[in-house]
Amino acid sequence: PEPTFADLNEILQKTLLFALQHRGGKNIERRLELAAELPLVFVDPKQVQQVFLNLILNAIQAMKEGGVLTVGSELVDAGEVCWVRTRIADTGPGIPDQIISKIFTPFFTTKAQGTGLGLAICQKLITQHGGTISVASSTGEGTVFTIDLPVPDDMP
Ligand code: ADP
Ligand code: MG
Repeated sequence: PEPTFADLNEILQKTLLFALQHRGGKNIERRLELAAELPLVFVDPKQVQQVFLNLILNAIQAMKEGGVLTVGSELVDAGEVCWVRTRIADTGPGIPDQIISKIFTPFFTTKAQGTGLGLAICQKLITQHGGTISVASSTGEGTVFTIDLPVPDDMP
């Protein structure tokens, strides 16, 4: 890994543009809810990009008939630590309760052509960066993935 100080808004937007080229003509409405200003985080930008790409492609795949893809960011001040929180939300079918606890397990997939590795890799990469990834979903309404990455104390 080659960590550097990076702007997550920039990585999110770049990745979103790239991913939307693979939406296969589906009607995906895009909503950006980005913080106007974010502190930089110390990350390997390629790895974070890979995480965002996995999540956005999953969201696009989940919205079979199209839908709304929301990408957001905010600063979370937790006192001792600050986090940059990013969020990728879709209006797809959601994840049933019986399977939501399994989605980060390697090789778990509900897709005919799936590898089941996307989320396992996302979790590994985010954890290696000292961050967390979590999911919230409700059937029929959609799914939100939230990623927290720590803001270093010694900003450049
Ligand atoms: P893959 O995409 O190869 O199936 P992932 O690890 O990326 O593997 O995802 C695992 C499973 O989690 C998917 O097969 C799907 O069942 C579920 N999943 C992930 N993201 C979403 C989403 N946005 N909406 C609904 N289900 C999802
Ligand atoms: Mg995937």
